[in-house]
Amino acid sequence: MRRVSIFGATGSIGQNTIDLIARAPEEYRVVALTGGRNVAQLAEDARRLRAEVAVAADEPLLPELRERLAGSGIEAQAGRQALVEAADRPADWVMSAIVGAAGLEPGLRALQQGAALALANKESMVCAGRLMMRTAEAHGGRVLPVDSEHSAVFQALIGEDMAAVERVIITASGGAFRDWPLEDLHKATPAQAATHPNWDMGQRITIDSASMFNKALELIETREFFGLDPAKIETVVHPESMIHALVGFNDGAFMAHVGPPDMRHAIGFALHYPERRTLPVERLDLVKLGALTFRPACETRWPALRLAREVMEAGGLSGAVFNAAKEVALDAFIDGRISFTRMAGVVEEVLTRLSSQVRHIDDAFDLDMVVEVDHLARVGAGEIIAATA
Ligand code: NAD
Ligand code: MG
Repeated sequence: MRRVSIFGATGSIGQNTIDLIARAPEEYRVVALTGGRNVAQLAEDARRLRAEVAVAADEPLLPELRERLAGSGIEAQAGRQALVEAADRPADWVMSAIVGAAGLEPGLRALQQGAALALANKESMVCAGRLMMRTAEAHGGRVLPVDSEHSAVFQALIGEDMAAVERVIITASGGAFRDWPLEDLHKATPAQAATHPNWDMGQRITIDSASMFNKALELIETREFFGLDPAKIETVVHPESMIHALVGFNDGAFMAHVGPPDMRHAIGFALHYPERRTLPVERLDLVKLGALTFRPACETRWPALRLAREVMEAGGLSGAVFNAAKEVALDAFIDGRISFTRMAGVVEEVLTRLSSQVRHIDDAFDLDMVVEVDHLARVGAGEIIAATA
């Protein structure tokens, strides 16, 4: 039986992962399930999957979790330390699906155990891609992409020579405001931004899709995952979200990964890799689809894309600054403290403020350096927001 753990089990990716695992319970031994505040869901899933341990992110929720797991034999734990310790429990396959930089350390710990880490938490790659890859290599583990675009690129590259890759294009739906007049964007509310035309995802990534900060993170993630020159990485708006990514080769061929938007494909691919197994996802119907459309990804409408390019060029720990500043700006937008369009301004100012400190850090950085830079960027973003509010 394969030992599996799911970090962020109560979220959108976590629940899709559980859906796949629960279809073949005899194949898996569930080690750890972790969640945030939804203790009822966490306890229910832990019982259903007979997990060894369930961990809630918030310490005050421990009594409730204990009560819900009473008599089950499942350990109940809570808090940051418990989460990190749960990641130290050996597992063969681990889903990293916590949202934000909070997912970095648990993922790294799992890699230190030699696990195959299915990485939905793109923020880990953006903040510390080199560290993730180095850790996997050092401990005989590996990182498998779960973001749909990166799973698509990964699949298109199987058996190929990286030296023959000319371009990688990841597609973007364009999010909630792709058709809004530019001059109305500053009025966009969090509720409006949290609706997605094609994908059903957590609140934060959905708003990041509307601002294209999600695609910006994914451009950086592409660079880190596949070690590509930033000049070879592009994005294009594709409102139907059917093609997830394309890889262009030096002989003019393009390999495109096509399929209906359902994260269980990418999760299932990572779960069964290197095999392919039957998955419960809708099959492509080209005739029903009729046509696929594409538009340029405009950097005036979505300045996050320009910032991503600057971050890729700068290297060092710029990605950690970018991500942390974005997380703080997103919180401020969700709380109504800044406008939708101000988010990119805040991130740009933080990048400028910290650029001299982070851009020359070489790839040998460790977790403590990432944590320190993440903290500096959060403080900077907080000050800039306070000054403008
Ligand atoms: P979500 O908000 O639905 O779930 C997040 C999970 O993380 C929950 O279990 C929550 O309890 C937990 N969590 C949040 N903050 C935490 C903290 N500080 N400590 C511990 N646990 C915490 O998010 P999601 O949409 O499932 O996304 C998860 C990750 O996957 C994100 O990095 C996202 O960018 C990425 N991703 C998601 C999708 C998707 O379709 N939802 C697609 C591609 C990539
Ligand atoms: Mg994606």
